Amino acid sequence: MTRFARLSVASEKGARRVVHAVLEGEHAAVLSAPRWLGGAATGEVIEGVGPDGIAPGVFPLAPVIPGKIICIGRNFQGHAKELGNEVPPEPLLFFKPPSSVLDPGGEIEIPPKRICNRVDHEAEIALVIGKRMRHVAAKDALDHVFGVTLALDITARDLQKKDGQWTRAKGMDTFCPLGPVIETGLDVSSLAIECKVNGAVRQKGHARDMTFPPAELLAFITDVITLEPGDVVLTGTPEGVGPLAAGDFIEHTVEPIGTLRARVVDRP
Ligand code: ZN
Repeated sequence: MTRFARLSVASEKGARRVVHAVLEGEHAAVLSAPRWLGGAATGEVIEGVGPDGIAPGVFPLAPVIPGKIICIGRNFQGHAKELGNEVPPEPLLFFKPPSSVLDPGGEIEIPPKRICNRVDHEAEIALVIGKRMRHVAAKDALDHVFGVTLALDITARDLQKKDGQWTRAKGMDTFCPLGPVIETGLDVSSLAIECKVNGAVRQKGHARDMTFPPAELLAFITDVITLEPGDVVLTGTPEGVGPLAAGDFIEHTVEPIGTLRARVVDRP
């Protein structure tokens, strides 16, 4: 298992720079590029960086800038039921745009009432693609995954119904918090999801309860859409989704990867 992060680092004159790095113990070993694009160690090491990529003058950014983000709707029976939906007979795909990505510790912006009236959290496991995938069979699919990170699929629930398709409901700016780090070498089916809002547990789920497991999702997607290194796939949310309001604080945890935190604010 290896942890990868994208870090904002203060440099001498107060300017900041962005680096991709491997986190090892208390060190961040800087890479020349993201590892899934062939980045190698530059020899520079930043000391005192914790497992979440945090140190004085250093904080984690979304660990990948995806070319595209593909999401799966209603992949947990409990969640489909709680909103009165059936589990679909085959995976239900939708996109979030890369412009919706929010860095760890960022602020989810609730739009004004004239746009929508209910914004929900959906805590999810996100797969980061490592190798180009086209027409890949389920048995080979996981060999193409670089690693796993956390995502919140923030959703304007009333717009999801009203619009019929989900572009606005799922695609707004700040609606895809991502991070804090990518962990490699995990068995995704062993991962548990827990999401707290203001310290109270709202969602508790387990990857083994996915209707379509990651390998099947990737085979289904790449039968029709090529996935490139750095693309991200959100695998669906367990039950317990609920509305957010300005002032809320979300903590989405998947061990051993870590906790993705976000604050909720009214759109300025
Ligand atoms: Zn979702």
